[in-house]
Amino acid sequence: MRKIAGLLMTAVATIASVITSTGVAQAENCPIALTYDDGPSAYTNQIVDAFAAHGSRATFFMVGNMAQNFPGAAANVVAHGNQVGNHSVGHGMLTSMGPQGAAADIQQAQQMIAGATGVVPAIMRPPYGETNAAIVAAVGMPEIMWSYDSMDYATHNTESTYANVTANAQCGGIVLMHDIHASTAAAAWRILDNLQSRGFRMVTVGELIGTPPPGMYYRQ
Ligand SMILES: [Zn+2]
Repeated sequence: MRKIAGLLMTAVATIASVITSTGVAQAENCPIALTYDDGPSAYTNQIVDAFAAHGSRATFFMVGNMAQNFPGAAANVVAHGNQVGNHSVGHGMLTSMGPQGAAADIQQAQQMIAGATGVVPAIMRPPYGETNAAIVAAVGMPEIMWSYDSMDYATHNTESTYANVTANAQCGGIVLMHDIHASTAAAAWRILDNLQSRGFRMVTVGELIGTPPPGMYYRQ
């Protein structure tokens, strides 16, 4: 009886996973949230187009100043069903502003991003991932970090951004990228081809975890 149970479990495990051409096993319909920070920029539309062509969605943590400078790209993000998050007015370090200063900065960015997109963000990501409990309390929003950093801002390299994201993709993960780099925009289509073929579903942060109460999420 024990042997039969073991065989059954093996059979179930085989059915529940897909072995891809790269040899990596993934569960089917496994959600992952790809996120893009620091924009919008001249490269954002290219990323939005790639996600739309793949029936997928991403989350864009926008800088208020950038949303004002690229209102067309900001609006295009929302028009294609992607989520917008707040990434401050000018990418300042919130921990240097004090809790009240940080809250004022995020509140101003809310207005700038809403002005460009028509949407008031429900989530935020502190620049550099730098925050603390007092800032979380003062800002009063869910602060979404990441489970994997693509290092795209350091490499500025399409091939390594593609390789890093696809090799480290996990069900339920939140991946950090930046839509201010041409190299990152150029990697989007191939990343989506690869992940989709392996059974990943690219969803927004909201689709992955909803809108949780104020706090720090996916902090490493
Ligand atoms: Zn940033």
